[in-house]
Amino acid sequence: MQDAMPSLSNQPIAPESLWPLICDAIRQKVGEAAYQSWLRQLYFLKCEGSALVLAAPTRFIKDWIRTHYLDQIKELAYNLNNRIYDVEIVVRANETSQISAPSPIIAPSPPASGQENRFFTQTTSDNVNEEDISAPLDPRMVFDNFVVGKSNELAYAAARRVADSTQVQFNPLFLYGGVGLGKTHLMHAIAWHIRNRDPQRRVIYLSAEKFMYLFIRALRFRDTVAFKEQFRTVDVLMIDDVQFIAGKDSTQEEFFHTFNALVDQNRQIIISADKSPSDLDGMEDRMKSRLGWGLVADIHPTTYELRLGILQSKAEQCQTDISPKVLEFLAHKITSNIRELEGSLNRLLAHATLVGRQINLEMTQEVLQDLLRANDRRITIDEIQKAVADHYNVRVADMHSARRSRVVARPRQVAMYLAKNLTTHSLPDIGRKFGGRDHTTVMHAIRKVDELKSTDISLVEDIAILMRALKC
Ligand code: ADP
Ligand code: MG
Repeated sequence: MQDAMPSLSNQPIAPESLWPLICDAIRQKVGEAAYQSWLRQLYFLKCEGSALVLAAPTRFIKDWIRTHYLDQIKELAYNLNNRIYDVEIVVRANETSQISAPSPIIAPSPPASGQENRFFTQTTSDNVNEEDISAPLDPRMVFDNFVVGKSNELAYAAARRVADSTQVQFNPLFLYGGVGLGKTHLMHAIAWHIRNRDPQRRVIYLSAEKFMYLFIRALRFRDTVAFKEQFRTVDVLMIDDVQFIAGKDSTQEEFFHTFNALVDQNRQIIISADKSPSDLDGMEDRMKSRLGWGLVADIHPTTYELRLGILQSKAEQCQTDISPKVLEFLAHKITSNIRELEGSLNRLLAHATLVGRQINLEMTQEVLQDLLRANDRRITIDEIQKAVADHYNVRVADMHSARRSRVVARPRQVAMYLAKNLTTHSLPDIGRKFGGRDHTTVMHAIRKVDELKSTDISLVEDIAILMRALKC
């Protein structure tokens, strides 16, 4: 539940309003780099029965999104409107995604200079052209909007140093830390800074996933020479989330050569990952050692002071009066990461705007129920299965078994329902925990329980008892 925007009233959200909300949620979920590389290129076409129909600019992008993101899109759509349980993607070559790109709720502050952003190009054909390789930069992700605290001061100082210097001092700069802690923000900030100061320098920023996609595409179109050329003539190369290419041998090999070629020419490389170079499983040893050659800076989990500072700065940016009590409450409660913290503030703002209410503590607790719970205590699916099995007097093994008799099928459905509502696991994840079932089975179970709850009082009581037993 944590990843989806809540239904802002109890009504399901109208199909045509779904897409911007899904985009917002998926952006929180997959991170800025992957969002900008892929999902931003999709746009809403129509709703057909239970299916949301989206368009992608090329077949290749469509296939990529289908393989990597379709389940997540389906799940988010379903969370927002339980009549939508399918998502189709078609190819529409000549249109751009701008039409339905959601506008961020927190107003962007413009980058330091008003120049055209030459990286804001969209890929609309299958031919690689020079600007295709860099992903768009988020105008909000600049140094001025980055709040510095104990946990990120080293990474910040290193990023500033690289952005300010005209000579390569450490190569690569390797930034690492958990999700949602500001790696992408710092990389974008470096890119903006260099570009504004020295527009002649060629700065390329992209996710490792997109690097792989471009490489595969070059192989497919027998265009690897052009591919190599493009990467080897940049001044500053930034690759975000490099852990993505761990275990992907030929992409890693290509990346290794690109890396070496650039280092040899004294060009700056900036890399981010979720772990330190030596902890990157699935990365070849020579790659690990290369990645650790320059400056390695880690970002630690946030502190209370940093979280509060960030909330204050975001509230200021969107010029909304939010009581300090609410901000303190959030800083205290949402401890997982900054992306979630920002997401919670966005939700409150969206809610306040849509229903015209003041943001106070009571409303905050109501709107952010699921997030607060997830941050309070991480309930596991195992615990849920055990509690449900005890309550209905069935065996825990029946939660995984293929038996379909009502005696075990209903408790299993209740357990899936609770798993969806009390944990942050995705539908496919939940399916796997229930004997390798498909996510559509889980979706069906949740709908069934939802339906039954309106007529079956004893089921409502069962769920209340189970929730208490699980201490929510
Ligand atoms: P990561 O790449 O580490 O997963 P991001 O850079 O995408 O995380 O950060 C997640 C969100 O939090 C972004 O919207 C980003 O702007 C914001 N954010 C992260 N760190 C800070 C910070 N120190 N100050 C302000 N905003 C931040
Ligand atoms: Mg990131």
